[in-house]
Amino acid sequence: MTIYDITWPLDELTPVYPGNPSFERVEKKGQTSVHSRISFGTHSGTHVDAPKHVLEGGVPIDALPLDVFIGLCRVIDVAGVEGSVKIFDLEQYNIQKGERILLKTKNSERGHAEWYDDYIYLDGDAADWLAAKEIALFGIDYLSVKQRGGADNRAHTALLQNGIGIIEGLDFSQVSAGEYELICLPLNIKNADGAPARAVLLKR
Ligand SMILES: [Zn+2]
Repeated sequence: MTIYDITWPLDELTPVYPGNPSFERVEKKGQTSVHSRISFGTHSGTHVDAPKHVLEGGVPIDALPLDVFIGLCRVIDVAGVEGSVKIFDLEQYNIQKGERILLKTKNSERGHAEWYDDYIYLDGDAADWLAAKEIALFGIDYLSVKQRGGADNRAHTALLQNGIGIIEGLDFSQVSAGEYELICLPLNIKNADGAPARAVLLKR
């Protein structure tokens, strides 16, 4: 079995969505042990968005069903796409109800060494289209599913309103398109709007 770690490493250098809290750490050395205080935003690095993030009365991260984030998934390579991923870019993949769909875009190639505004995101119509297909989960390889500063919030709302899990900040640079098993477990933070997660793909 091969394990692909598709998680961004989290530290002071990890890019942060503008306006979100930065990563901070204070390391305290005792006589026989080290224990640190670490603080970071709920949408830091590889993370899961809870409906509470964008929906009034939406459920928090600790209320999300874990089976959405564990199981068969499909990595779809749309690295040729510029700007946003549209219905046109996804139509050919015969996406089925209940699928976990992870998009490998140009973001993975560009990496996560620094923040950039013009990341590839999910178009609002495409979000509606995926919601209508009743997929189980959607993942993308930068810090937001929607355009930076864009008025169209459907990339978040269409998915979260329909119980579709969202993972942001994935790294597919070492992964090619295909079927895998996904394990992505967000930290169990009570009443949180999102939480960092460790995400891996398994290939048996
Ligand atoms: Zn988020």
